[in-house]
Amino acid sequence: MERAILHLDMDAFYASVEQLDHPELRGRPVVVGGLGPRGVVATASYEARVYGVRSAMPMAKARALCPQAAFLSPRFERYEEVAHRIRDVLAGYSPLVEPLSLDEAFVDLTGTERLHGPPGEVARAIHRRIRDEVGLSCSVGVGPNKLLAKLASEAAKPGGVYVLRPEDVEGFLSPLAVDRLWGVGPRTAARLSEHGVRTAGDLRQVDLGVLQSWFGTAQGAHLWRVARGVDDSPVEPEREVKSISHEETFPQDLVREDDVEREVRRLADRVAARLGEEGMLASTVFVKIRWADFTTRTRQVRLAEPTDHPFLIAEAALGLLGRGGVEAEAGIRLLGVGLSGLVPATFRPTPLFAAAGLPEVLREVRARHGPSALTIGLRGEDFPRGRGYTDPKGTKGRERP
Ligand SMILES: [Mg+2]
Repeated sequence: MERAILHLDMDAFYASVEQLDHPELRGRPVVVGGLGPRGVVATASYEARVYGVRSAMPMAKARALCPQAAFLSPRFERYEEVAHRIRDVLAGYSPLVEPLSLDEAFVDLTGTERLHGPPGEVARAIHRRIRDEVGLSCSVGVGPNKLLAKLASEAAKPGGVYVLRPEDVEGFLSPLAVDRLWGVGPRTAARLSEHGVRTAGDLRQVDLGVLQSWFGTAQGAHLWRVARGVDDSPVEPEREVKSISHEETFPQDLVREDDVEREVRRLADRVAARLGEEGMLASTVFVKIRWADFTTRTRQVRLAEPTDHPFLIAEAALGLLGRGGVEAEAGIRLLGVGLSGLVPATFRPTPLFAAAGLPEVLREVRARHGPSALTIGLRGEDFPRGRGYTDPKGTKGRERP
């Protein structure tokens, strides 16, 4: 059966929610993001984009470009609430809804036509209901797969609906720059450009064997497929990651604090790596500890700012353990470190170790040379405990149920 996939993307989501909640901001430039000295723009309203303000731009630059804008800290809890209302609308049309982030989702409409009408009509109904029931503008794309549905919603931006029919795919794709295609980052795009390949149409002219000789078997085949708009990936409703954790039961109980610290740093490193793979930052760190007598404790703390930094996560976890007294001499059977309150990494408020770019460096080295190619030092002398991890309200680690 021919598939019909819908992609919904909210327009300037965080800024639009602020304008919805604060009518005095409507029609005005609004910039949401980190307001600290090294903060970054998460979302700019269309009124601010006119001045050249863009996501991921340093906040200082945004202030210089558009000093009259309203500059606001993000309120993720509120955005999450709105995101749930949007998902409730989508869930009315298909059980297969895959949220990609707070403001984006895929919906598989294949086989729903008898119930809800043709996919194009469903797209227009969703678009209208989100405007009327939620009060926000969105862009909706429909296509025969996820790759094309997402490109269609980009074509619909801002505030439109674009239905891409299978017979129009080739003409639609041909003029697109290669870096608009999935899995084509700036490096791949630059290498393709060296071969004179700049658009999806150019890419389609290159034989599979040639692409594979340039990029290897797997990536060459991927490029060949995306150039033709081929994508079989399913809409996966469980895609949304709410928390990431890892725990380990030790073959022998740990009895020395040094060993506990080493294990906590290792676990933190691991969950940070997984967080990075998801493209998220964590607002909350939790720890789990089980002693030899099976007494188990969990504690959590909300960080001053979301992070994906293994050192900051380790420091928070060690802080939580230290607070209750580790009592390693009683024998520790299990340790766990977890992360929740996940937010998209596009919001990176004040990257304390940004200059070092450590998480990116770790990811890159491991991607190339395997997961154990680089591990974090056992003692972390360069990062004395307490630095970087701040707890401004003096929030105590709360017991988790
Ligand atoms: Mg969006």
